[in-house]
Amino acid sequence: MKKKVLIIDDEHANRYLLENILDEYETISLENGQKLWDYLQDNHAVLILLDIMMPNEDGYQIAKKLSLDEILKDIPIIFLTAKDAAQDIKKGFESGGYDYITKPFDEMTLKIRIQSVIEKKNLELQLKKQAITDPLTNLYNRRYFFDRLDKQIEFIKRNKNDLSVAILDIDFFKKINDSYGHLAGDFILQELSGKLVKYIRPYDIAARYGGEEFVVIFIDCNKKKSKLIMQRIKDKIENNSYNYENFKMNFTFSCGIADINDFPDQKVITSKEFIKIADDRLLEAKRSGRNMIINML
Ligand code: GH3
Ligand code: MG
Ligand code: MG
Repeated sequence: MKKKVLIIDDEHANRYLLENILDEYETISLENGQKLWDYLQDNHAVLILLDIMMPNEDGYQIAKKLSLDEILKDIPIIFLTAKDAAQDIKKGFESGGYDYITKPFDEMTLKIRIQSVIEKKNLELQLKKQAITDPLTNLYNRRYFFDRLDKQIEFIKRNKNDLSVAILDIDFFKKINDSYGHLAGDFILQELSGKLVKYIRPYDIAARYGGEEFVVIFIDCNKKKSKLIMQRIKDKIENNSYNYENFKMNFTFSCGIADINDFPDQKVITSKEFIKIADDRLLEAKRSGRNMIINML
């Protein structure tokens, strides 16, 4: 399948020329920023070729707007423009351009630069994903978890939304490793991760906190509701057997949950305190016999 490149230019002749040159791509030509914005609400592309001088919104403004969108900011932009002054080029990069090519351009050079930007962006996205992913379970890692929790706490300080965090720890996990080996233990970690992702809502965040400990951020959800979700996961895990090679294994987990109502003053919540409250409840669940979820002491 051909990669999709978007051409944004107000002049028909320019769009036509580019469509013909870039025949190894699927090209979509649009004549202004509004059409680009509408198109990207339902479609994706690997690259945007963006003219600068256009009526209404110019290329710089369009690039700025895209750079503020969480998803669209990952589509690289190459400015393709007659504006060749150093100040214009500087402004192009400052407004979020990945590369800047002046008209008239050489066809071969244009193709090489497009290919190079697509490859570099791909690599960049791959590295970005690796930096926030736990390789064994494919869940988010601890760094990303704290990053998102900090952002979510900032958000609820301004908006009156709910937020809860669950921390869970597999019970007697060491025994699984000791009895069946570390690969069987790894398999259990992957199975639990899969169940977490399956049963939480798509906008909630599950992460591996460390070893056999996991965390979930429940967005706009108090601890009563998130306890119900965790309870469903706990029941699924408890009532299932896990086959790895010739072993048939069972396991359970314990869980502590905190929410923003655990803080008398919601203006001063920190992610560390949030975790501390959930973790105290997890410890209590362990002390009280394991395989349980506690959301208040
Ligand atoms: P408790 O019910 O009190 O939580 O007991 P536990 O055995 O689960 O807890 P403990 O902290 O004693 O042991 C956790 C074990 O998890 C020890 C460690 O070797 C193992 N572990 C940590 N990371 C990994 C991993 O990536 N893979 C595997 N297989 N084991 C891991
Ligand atoms: Mg542990
Ligand atoms: Mg454990």
